[in-house]
Amino acid sequence: MFIGHFAVGFGAKKYVPTISLGYLFIAAQFLDLLWPTLLLLEVEKVEIVPGITKLTPLDFIHYPITHSLLMALLWGVLASSLTWLLVRNRKTAVIIGLCVFSHWMLDLLVHRPDLPVLPGDSTRLGFGLWNQPAIAIIGESLLFIAGIYLYQKTTTARNKAGKYSLLLLIGF
Ligand SMILES: [Zn+2]
Repeated sequence: MFIGHFAVGFGAKKYVPTISLGYLFIAAQFLDLLWPTLLLLEVEKVEIVPGITKLTPLDFIHYPITHSLLMALLWGVLASSLTWLLVRNRKTAVIIGLCVFSHWMLDLLVHRPDLPVLPGDSTRLGFGLWNQPAIAIIGESLLFIAGIYLYQKTTTARNKAGKYSLLLLIGF
């Protein structure tokens, strides 16, 4: 999934208004932020296979540490614990953990069955919406709109600059 992960960050702001949007984006995208590092270290592996799905040519051959179900859960727990240490607020800690884990759930919808359940590359899951471009694009756009709707309901721009920078961010 692409912009859908940012929708989670925007939407989460409603529930933890004191946490910066940047922190929420990092949480929702954490697995994909870690992924390039592990690719460079050759711990995880991706190849480009044109046509492997209709929306992306990436063949996720091996990514047990960033994208297995078990590790996604563990990363969520870790992020939650770290947040707890930083802010000492249970609700915030839980929501940050959920943001991190949500990444896997959203990827599950769009990836072909390449997401391992356990790091050992056992069973692999994925509902494959990247092969149904219309559904994937509309679904992801709706999710994005919902996220922004929740976000703008909880925050009010202090001035015009604030309003335009939100629009710029959305455009980006
Ligand atoms: Zn991902």
